[in-house]
Amino acid sequence: MFSYRHGFHAGNHADVLKHMVLIAVLKHLTAKPTALTVVDTHAGAGLYRLDSDFADTSGEARDGILKLAASPLAAGAPPLVADYLERVASFNPSGGTRIYPGSPFVTQALLRREPRDKLWLFELHPTDGKALAGHVAQLEDQRQVAIRREDGFEGLRSLLPPPSRRGLVLIDPSYEIKSDYQRVAACLQESLKKFATGTYMVWYPVIPRPEAHELPRRLKTLANQAGKPWLHATLNIGQAPERAKTHTPGEPAPRPGLTASGVFLVNPPHTLKAALQEALPAVLEVLGRGRGQAQAVEAS
Ligand code: SAM
Repeated sequence: MFSYRHGFHAGNHADVLKHMVLIAVLKHLTAKPTALTVVDTHAGAGLYRLDSDFADTSGEARDGILKLAASPLAAGAPPLVADYLERVASFNPSGGTRIYPGSPFVTQALLRREPRDKLWLFELHPTDGKALAGHVAQLEDQRQVAIRREDGFEGLRSLLPPPSRRGLVLIDPSYEIKSDYQRVAACLQESLKKFATGTYMVWYPVIPRPEAHELPRRLKTLANQAGKPWLHATLNIGQAPERAKTHTPGEPAPRPGLTASGVFLVNPPHTLKAALQEALPAVLEVLGRGRGQAQAVEAS
């Protein structure tokens, strides 16, 4: 059932968008004194080696974090991009970018001991779940982090609303199963009823599939029905030129890799849209391949 392994995709353009936004949201939420609860319903392995067989085979990080970090534009990058690059660099104290932090470690690094913020991680894949547990075991303060090798959609139910009434839920499935699209929408709908003031962040792939196309529309409808503000950001880096070159007319077109993805937030920080409108063009300038585009739109 589980063929998806995030190790193949770690540090790609979709991770750049997702983790850049995640850092911005966490920085905003941790600026307030009340304790924060973060639930990561689809955590992955937590840390990834970009020089591993996985990452090397796919080469996806080369069109993502590795390209961004090596770009001369990184020096004067807008704050969101600079924060993201700095966070990734903090996992690579000897320089270079060999280690890439997934959402659990991006988040954990920003949580506070006082007040005692809490991180819940759900991961169903046996191997990635084990890897995640091993990585978390290296942390100095493990009490702040709880790992559940359970279904994240189900597990979230018992955690809302969080005790401090301040929380962020990251919903980042692999969409390996078609029903994930439906489950994401149902999960957001149910969660908003239990915890209407929480911040929710959903990642999804922009692919030619009706469910993927429909998902952001459904999420907008749900947020509007709940009377909550939302923000929708997308990053499309365009098709790799190599693919266009190697395609012989008359033969079936090669299946392109993922070229675009989006994040949809409910109750986003009020500063996020402007910050993204500054950051996304800079990211696109480095990662874009021809006809890429990026935008951040929010409910008026
Ligand atoms: N959030 C991670 C990050 O940004 O670093 C990446 C997560 S990856 C896109 C999705 C993960 O969800 C995979 O590791 C997969 O094994 C796991 N998964 C799939 N279905 C799940 C479910 N129902 N509950 C929890 N984990 C699940």
